[in-house]
Amino acid sequence: MSNKLQGKVAIITGGASGIGEATVRHFAVHGARMIVIADIQDELGQKVVESIGPDKCSYVHCDVTDEEQVRSLVQSTVQHHGRLDIMFSNAGTFSKSSQTVIELDLAELDQLFAVNVRGMAACVKHAARAMVELNIRGSVVCTASTCASSGGDSNTDYFMSKHAVLGLVRSASKQLGVHGIRVNSVSPFVLGTPMLCRYLEKEPEEAEKLFEPMTSLKGVVLKPKHIADAVVFLASQDSELITGHDLVVDAGVLLK
Ligand code: NAD
Repeated sequence: MSNKLQGKVAIITGGASGIGEATVRHFAVHGARMIVIADIQDELGQKVVESIGPDKCSYVHCDVTDEEQVRSLVQSTVQHHGRLDIMFSNAGTFSKSSQTVIELDLAELDQLFAVNVRGMAACVKHAARAMVELNIRGSVVCTASTCASSGGDSNTDYFMSKHAVLGLVRSASKQLGVHGIRVNSVSPFVLGTPMLCRYLEKEPEEAEKLFEPMTSLKGVVLKPKHIADAVVFLASQDSELITGHDLVVDAGVLLK
């Protein structure tokens, strides 16, 4: 237990699974007063709430592609818990097909952008509005990816969408600094969450093994917990002076 997030009210989108779920658990360990999970997987979300306890954690069905649902998520959080200190905008998706540029399926690209870009923007917009209205020096963290800083052999739509997240973070951080609101991103390298395992049709350990040769730092396997550690840092006062930053958690994959 620590008190890094003591008294804080947080929303975590995509909190029912993978990186989001690990971060919900980490926020609880670090003393957050209330963590609101926003996701579309209701059963999984409720299970996470049960395991943490309804006095510390709640679940709201929220599809981030629907701005009205995002607005209502933020409004109900403020209504029930009196404030919003942290928005971890993390919900994301991956297209089914490989999407090299000459194969781009623009309908699939639109669906992916609706979550990874438009949904991310809606979460930052409504969280920032509430923080400004309530005069809260809050922290917004978005999940980007190492794909935001490199090109890809495939999955062009995903790489494009994560580049857009950095544009959102850099612009929002410039605009919101005057209100004392910090906006940063966390950029994981590949890790064996349900999203990736579904796409690769592999078990988490198999997926991790596949990508391990690309890391510079040996003897560690990237897990959702490592990303959650980075998010706690960005959400807490430990990073008081850090804004507009992309915190890459990749065991040295992007090193040249
Ligand atoms: P995951 O599938 O385990 O979790 C993603 C969660 O987002 C799920 O619970 C899902 O229900 C939710 N979600 C999807 N669409 C949504 C919507 N429209 N509204 C609300 N919630 C929605 O996958 P993950 O790997 O934990 O992904 C979390 C984030 O991390 C994503 O933004 C992803 O792009 C990013 N990321 C993942 C990896 C990786 O290798 N797994 C690497 C870099 C970045």
